[in-house]
Amino acid sequence: MIVTTDVEIENFKKAGKLAGEVLEATSKLVKVGISTGELDEFAEKMIRDAGCIPTFKGYRKFPATICVSINEEVVHGIPNRNRVLKDGDVISIDLGATFRVENGKKMDYIGDTALTVAVGEINPRLQKLLDDTQKSLYAGIKVCRAGATLDDIGGAIEDIAKENLYGIVRDYGGHGIGPNYHEDPLIFNYRTGSKVRLKPGMVIAIEPMFNQGGDRVRLKQDGWTVVTQDYKPSAHFEHSILVTEGEPIVLTQRPSEVI
Ligand code: MG
Repeated sequence: MIVTTDVEIENFKKAGKLAGEVLEATSKLVKVGISTGELDEFAEKMIRDAGCIPTFKGYRKFPATICVSINEEVVHGIPNRNRVLKDGDVISIDLGATFRVENGKKMDYIGDTALTVAVGEINPRLQKLLDDTQKSLYAGIKVCRAGATLDDIGGAIEDIAKENLYGIVRDYGGHGIGPNYHEDPLIFNYRTGSKVRLKPGMVIAIEPMFNQGGDRVRLKQDGWTVVTQDYKPSAHFEHSILVTEGEPIVLTQRPSEVI
């Protein structure tokens, strides 16, 4: 969708701000011994207490508020009260907050955002994977303005992966955000030759996924969890962005995040 009115922009900002706040608060609970189910319950309560709706819950029958993906899991892991975090794990938390407006007809405004954090102590090489993936998200955001091509975004991200010899997940990527959540365009985290240009008023999610090993991923038997084929760890960061003629607006910037 193309956002045209100030009211629509405010509604997207409201959804995005909450998503950023919930992600930050949830990530602060990450510690050795907590279960991913507890993180999910916390995030759901915080979203609902703010009068919004967990975007993912029920989306294509996904059963939870957050996606939690640990170590070799890339994206879309399902939280569980029995899955307890261990020292040395890395965990990606991905969530969406929907601000629903109903006056006459229903309209949903969505903020979609993710980060990856360490549980306890992790080795410096793994920390660098996290840092570089976040850096690539910022590099993608930086080039994100009206007139830029999708390849400008993908290229900025790809360059950082290549420099550091990371695998880039190719089967998943960023996307437009509209009232039904995902919409066109798909935004790949590498160059595809795309000449599709960003327009002012587009809301898009940029979400690089880098692997310590190869590019390849596969779907687990639960039908949701995506893992690296070589079982090497993966990192994932995401923000929702409003494209303008000038600087992009990072809708899901977290309260303590400096971009
Ligand atoms: Mg997304």
